[in-house]
Amino acid sequence: MKIRVSDMGESGLHIKTFRKPEWLTNIPELSSDEGDTHLSSNINVDLLLTKVLKEISVRGNIWFSIETPCARCLDTMDLILEPEVNLILLPEYLPHEKDEDIDFETYKGDEIDLGGYLRELIAMSLPIKVLCVEECKGLCPNCGVNLNLEECSCKDNWVDPRFAVLRNLKV
Ligand SMILES: [Zn+2]
Ligand SMILES: [Zn+2]
Repeated sequence: MKIRVSDMGESGLHIKTFRKPEWLTNIPELSSDEGDTHLSSNINVDLLLTKVLKEISVRGNIWFSIETPCARCLDTMDLILEPEVNLILLPEYLPHEKDEDIDFETYKGDEIDLGGYLRELIAMSLPIKVLCVEECKGLCPNCGVNLNLEECSCKDNWVDPRFAVLRNLKV
């Protein structure tokens, strides 16, 4: 996603575009069927670039959806992710105050390429563990039924292996 700095006018530059899932070359499993989690939409980009002297500010949103299994019951669900973009680009690295909400990157000459930064941002926005609902009951470790949908009798019949020995004792 390359932009010429000289194309940016006084009022800035509005970029509204999208990329296909394959564009995420840093996470190839997201656009294939190999992983558990994959993209179920294009990657939509809506950014406003403004320039003050040589400092370029990039603000806006990316949004896309993923299909991912619940960490407990493995039910597939669709999740919309909208990582926010808040980036300052400088022609060279200048010492700046640390700000947790703003990222800093550098650019060279007349060209800036947001591709690497956006791919990284998307990778970082992916949830590590997702639950379909906060109180998801998961799968029965014994018979494998989805405890959100059915009940099983494993719990009633379950005997702690440490006590199973006692059960077989003939008194
Ligand atoms: Zn679940
Ligand atoms: Zn069970």
